[in-house]
Amino acid sequence: MNYRITSIPGDGIGPEIVTEAKKVLQKIGERYGHTFTFTDILMGGASIDVHGVPLTDEAIQTAKDADAVLMGSIGGNTVTSPWYRLAPDKRPEAGLLKIRKALGLFANLRPAMLYDELAAACPLKAEISRAGFDMMMLRELTGGLYFGERKTEMIDGKMTAVDTLTYNEDEIWRAAVKGFEIAMKRRKKVTSVDKANVLDSSRLWRKVVEEVAADYPEVTLEHMLVDNCAMQLVKNPAQFDVVLTENMFGDILSDEASMITGSLGMLPSASLNDTKFGLYEPSGGSAPDIAGKGIANPIATILSAAMMLRYSFDLDQEADAIEAAVKQTLKDGYRTIDIMPQDGNTDGVTQVGTAKMGDLICERIV
Ligand code: NAD
Repeated sequence: MNYRITSIPGDGIGPEIVTEAKKVLQKIGERYGHTFTFTDILMGGASIDVHGVPLTDEAIQTAKDADAVLMGSIGGNTVTSPWYRLAPDKRPEAGLLKIRKALGLFANLRPAMLYDELAAACPLKAEISRAGFDMMMLRELTGGLYFGERKTEMIDGKMTAVDTLTYNEDEIWRAAVKGFEIAMKRRKKVTSVDKANVLDSSRLWRKVVEEVAADYPEVTLEHMLVDNCAMQLVKNPAQFDVVLTENMFGDILSDEASMITGSLGMLPSASLNDTKFGLYEPSGGSAPDIAGKGIANPIATILSAAMMLRYSFDLDQEADAIEAAVKQTLKDGYRTIDIMPQDGNTDGVTQVGTAKMGDLICERIV
């Protein structure tokens, strides 16, 4: 089968890490009999330099015409780059907000898992990390507090600020459906996180999630208050499979979940709309400090490509093959500089650059 992928190399290390993800997809294509056709578009600083804007309408159309989008990262050094002397709506990051909106991407997925080989980097106590963890954080991305009405005004002689947290049942419904669909591809458990003891929006969230759950009898649903979830993530992360939550809670909890892996450079992410379409990108940024040196870790982008296979193309076996190849490469002792052991003990460990890491992963795809 032929899959059309729009790729956004972007800025900084973006082009280097996207090249490796494409290399791995080509290898999957050869091994499993698929064709992946890539069309590059400019976004972020790369687009500003050529078109004067961070994303053109033509580029958006190219993305819409594809089956999925694979992105590196965008942006530059926010202090020294001339891109940051432009008005906020002309800066690199405006391109990302624009494409998310244009593509209707409302569900953000960020897996957080502990690799045995990198367990030493996990900041949790050994008796907790020993159990391992492998969870998928699903954050609603386009509603809630960040998109509600806001104002700051003088009331009774005091400056008073108001932010509004609004969700309607359709917004909750579509996010919940994504959560349950993803749980069906995993260990079939959803933890829905809210603050239903205080917030009306959370009580509606809980009601709608329960209605959606009725369509997925194989999936176990539990509800958890957000404050408890923040604690449970560091106390017993092994209990989580899919964590389903609204925008602001998800913003905070997904960073906490990333942090406990101890290896941010390894984490992929996806933003999905209500079809199978999605935009896949590493969780990290464009790392201008190491751009062009050939040392960036491409694994998060390669794992983002695996997520694309799983969630946009339903190629679960092929996604498994990429994830297994990454694990085997780590097991064989290969590391990019960011995931080298911190304790100075490099026995059995070999440091490699970006392209070599891509090659090693390709060699291990079976
Ligand atoms: P960053 O994630 O780019 O870098 C933070 C640190 O992590 C740096 O030391 C960097 O070298 C390292 N790092 C990041 N990815 C790495 C990789 N794959 N391999 C090895 N090391 C890696 O965050 P920042 O420095 O705060 O931001 C730099 C630029 O990236 C800014 O312009 C920011 O706006 C942008 N940004 C873009 C995205 C995106 O494209 N979605 C996300 C976050 C930040």
